[in-house]
Amino acid sequence: MTDHTPLPPARGCRDVPVLKQRGQREVFCGLTGIIWLHRKMQDAFFLVVGSRTCAHLLQSAAGVMIFAEPRFGTAILEEKDLAGMADAHDELDREVARLLSRRPDIRQLFLVGSCPSEVIKLDLARAAERLTRVHAPHVRVLNYTGSGIETTFTQGEDACLASMVPELPETEARELLLVGALPDVVEDQALALLSGLGLDRVRCLPARRRDEMPAVGPNTIFALVQPFLGETHAALERRGARHIAAPFPFGEEGTTAWLAAVAEAFGVPPERFNEVTAAPRARARKAIAAQSKELRGKRIFFFPDSQLEVPLARFLTRECGMEALEVGTPYLHRTICGPDLDLLAEGPVISEGQDVDLQLDRCRAARPDLTVCGLGLANPLEAEGLRTKWAIELVFTPVHFYEQAGDLAGLFSRPLRRRARLTGLERLPESAAP
Ligand code: SF4
Repeated sequence: MTDHTPLPPARGCRDVPVLKQRGQREVFCGLTGIIWLHRKMQDAFFLVVGSRTCAHLLQSAAGVMIFAEPRFGTAILEEKDLAGMADAHDELDREVARLLSRRPDIRQLFLVGSCPSEVIKLDLARAAERLTRVHAPHVRVLNYTGSGIETTFTQGEDACLASMVPELPETEARELLLVGALPDVVEDQALALLSGLGLDRVRCLPARRRDEMPAVGPNTIFALVQPFLGETHAALERRGARHIAAPFPFGEEGTTAWLAAVAEAFGVPPERFNEVTAAPRARARKAIAAQSKELRGKRIFFFPDSQLEVPLARFLTRECGMEALEVGTPYLHRTICGPDLDLLAEGPVISEGQDVDLQLDRCRAARPDLTVCGLGLANPLEAEGLRTKWAIELVFTPVHFYEQAGDLAGLFSRPLRRRARLTGLERLPESAAP
C-alpha cells in the first residue's frame, strides 16, 4: 500500500450490532441472474420451469438483448400441471428432447426452478440426473432454483455456480480459481494483471465454455469477485479448496487489496507487485477523482438488494468521500464481507434483511442525498424528492478492477449531477429554459 491509501478506521463495522428485520421485502427473484449468466456461458441454455409470470420477467428484462437464438426459455407449467393432473416430468423430458435436437450448440443445460415448480414440489434434481443419463456425454444437465420465495436476485448466480461445483473434475494442481461471472473484457483485464504478477495457472468459474471448466481440489486457492457467492464458497470448501479472504475489487483500494491478498498467497515479491499495479492504480485514482467531486460529503442510504452493499459502502466512503447512513443487505456473510467490514468506519446502521415499511420510514427521516434501492422503490422515492440509484444496474455494468473504478464512481455521481442540472433549470426564468 502507498501513502495514497487511507488508513484503516480505528473501529470498523465487523463487530458492530446488526439490525435484523424480517418482513415484507422488495426484491427481484433469482431468475434475473440468467440475464448475465447466459451471456457469460456461451454453450449453456437456461430452461426455467415456471409460469407465464416467470417468462414475462425474463422477456421484459432480457428481451432487448436478444440478437441471435436465445439461450434461455421457459417451460410453462399449465394449470393441469399445477393441479397434479399431468405428469410434469414427462412433459419436461419431451421439451428438453425437442430443444436439444434443434440446438446441437447446447453443451450445458440448466433446469431452473421457480416459485410454481417449488410449490408443486417438482423434483428438478431427479429430472436433471435422468436427463443427463439420456443426453450425456454431449450435454450435461444441472439444476438450481431461482425462486423468489426466499431469495434475492443475485442468489440466482450463487445457486447456479454452486450447482456446478460437485461436477467439476478433481485436481491436485496448485491453481488460482476466480469465482464469479465477470464480463469477458473485465475478466481479461483481471487475468492480464494476474499474469503480470506471474500467475499463469488461473482458472475461472464459470468458464465461458463447458470444455474450459476448471478442476478443483485441495491445492486450489480461490478468490471471489462477487460478495454474493456464499453457497458457492461453501461448496468449494467442501471440495477442499481454500478461500483467500480480501476486500472486493471495487475501486482502487479494493482492487489493490484484493490483488495483494492473492499475491501474498502465491508469494509474489512486493517489488513486482508495485511494478505491475503502479500505473493502473494511478489511472484508477485519477478516474475516481474526476467522478467523486459530486459525491464528496454526500450522504447515502442502501436498501438491501444486490448484496454488493457492504463493499460499495466501503468504496464510496473511503474513496469518494461519501457518508453512509444505513447499509442494508439481504444477507450478511461475515466470512466473505469481513475484510470490507473492517475497512468501513463505524457509524452507519448495518442492517440485514428487510421490513420495507420500517426501512422506508428510516430513509425518509434521514433524507439521504442518494438512495440505492430496487426498481420498485425508486419511483416512489423520486416522487418524494429523493435521488435514487437502481441496485440492479450494478450487476449489469462492468464495475470491477482498476479500469472500471471511474465508471463505478460515475454510476453514483450521475444521478446527483442530473439533479443539480434539473435544479439549475428550475431556477432559470421560463424564457431561458431549453
Ligand atoms: S420465480 Fe417466482 S418471483 Fe420469479 S418470476 Fe417466477 S413466479 Fe415471479
